[in-house]
Amino acid sequence: MARFVFITGGVVSSLGKGLASAALGALLQARGFSVRLRKLDPYLNVDPGTMSPFEHGEVFVTDDGAETDLDLGHYERFTGVAARATDSVSSGRIYSTVLEKERRGDYLGKTIQVIPHVTNEIKDFISIGEDEVDFMLCEIGGTVGDIEGLPFFEAIRQFGQDKPRGQCIFMHLTLLPYIAASGELKTKPTQHSVKELRSIGIAPDILVCRSERPIPQKEREKLALFCNVRSDSVIAAYDLKSIYEAPLAYHREGLDQAVLDAFQISPAPKPDLSRWHDVYDRIFHAEGEVRVAIVGKYTQLEDAYKSIAEALTHGGMANRVKVRAEWIDAEIFEREDPAPYLEGFHAILVPGGFGERGTEGKIRAAQFAREREIPYLGICLGMQMAVIEAARNLAQLPDAGSEEFDHEAGQKRFTPVVYHLKEWVQGNQTVARKADDDKGGTMRLGAYTANLSAGSRVAGIYGATVIEERHRHRYEVDIRYREKLEEQGLCFSGMSPDGRLPEIVEIADHPWFIGVQFHPELKSKPFDPHPLFADFVRAAKEVERLV
Ligand code: GLN
Repeated sequence: MARFVFITGGVVSSLGKGLASAALGALLQARGFSVRLRKLDPYLNVDPGTMSPFEHGEVFVTDDGAETDLDLGHYERFTGVAARATDSVSSGRIYSTVLEKERRGDYLGKTIQVIPHVTNEIKDFISIGEDEVDFMLCEIGGTVGDIEGLPFFEAIRQFGQDKPRGQCIFMHLTLLPYIAASGELKTKPTQHSVKELRSIGIAPDILVCRSERPIPQKEREKLALFCNVRSDSVIAAYDLKSIYEAPLAYHREGLDQAVLDAFQISPAPKPDLSRWHDVYDRIFHAEGEVRVAIVGKYTQLEDAYKSIAEALTHGGMANRVKVRAEWIDAEIFEREDPAPYLEGFHAILVPGGFGERGTEGKIRAAQFAREREIPYLGICLGMQMAVIEAARNLAQLPDAGSEEFDHEAGQKRFTPVVYHLKEWVQGNQTVARKADDDKGGTMRLGAYTANLSAGSRVAGIYGATVIEERHRHRYEVDIRYREKLEEQGLCFSGMSPDGRLPEIVEIADHPWFIGVQFHPELKSKPFDPHPLFADFVRAAKEVERLV
């Protein structure tokens, strides 16, 4: 049976709880344990799939097709353990399950209450697959004291009691603000936050304290005394230059040792941190820099394309170069010539997105990359834009467009080179959709197989002709235009197994021009960069050599 670590936050949000959880997962793995990480989010959306990236950052998609919190991306990048639908839950999902059961009559006439019905549902969720791993790390979103979070805190309190002694520990992440005027780090907010936690019956075993200054021994002892934790369980979390330093930094501060001590695991297995030393070396000993322009819509919030930014960093690590990603609002290219903006870049990436706004600009960016022979990677909508560009400018279809934009505008303006997919095959089942379906959870989601043409550039990059990648889209390139486009040099080099859905397009007669209907960024890891990103950055590096 797994040991459970519950990770909560206090004082303020955005302290890096997800990162701390992910780094702890990596450290426990380094000591030979198997881990799984989970996120419990207090908001009322059933999942983040319907939230704007401006609200919640990127939606991370699992192999089994769940649209989840972006922290699951951190978990995967640090542990390499593929997240599942059962690793992310929200209050909305919990309540909707409870209400479905109530309607079905499962509660046999009982009055449905937060305790025990909602808390039981949360506890059932936490224990899914508990026999599969040594450690289950569960992060509670938000901060202690939030109204919405209360059922989760109550559930983990109960969970700790339900399990045999020593099976669950609580780790609380807080902030020690630095007051410049007095030159002091303040422990009071942490004391209050722990008081709040204890008032709901949870006594933390470990305190992780974010601080911009070194935490003096005196303050550690004060925290230990007032918060009732051992002084060696007060762990400092300092600002880092790269998130991938986190496992080594937390190890230096004694986090993994404190966790093993709290579970009384002795002697503690020695850690093998060679993977993280190598990652560190690749980041901090890069030679040279490549500049990649990301032409997208959600450019104000970096979290909106979190996995893409990380995958580019990994691609840089594979080539021992630093990748400087710069975000450019696609709408600019609807008013202005892209050339002065894009000329200085070694590569151009057009990421995924929804809706028509900015798409003409993305099409112009794809055209610029094609004509100027600059490496281009189009992801999902970025592939659709590249296809539309080729259809318009090479295949004499000046009205080529996507049905997505006509649907949005409520009028027919385009030749639908990209159309609304209503039926497709998943495994050995047919999935059907209607135009007026609900928005939540109805896209083509999760891992699908693609067959790559032997001899194509992508088959070379992957070193395989059968691949599996994660999807999240409603629209699809229409194979009826395949011949016309291939005549012009845009090859459909990756297809769904039934040959109906284009998965990859590429231009052979170009230094590097690839569009993919899926999201390769979701599977990239610092210690295992995704081959497409690694090769994209390699191609960008070649451009630099030519400059
Ligand atoms: N909006 C497009 C579609 O639904 C692309 C989606 C995406 O880029 N993730 O097909």
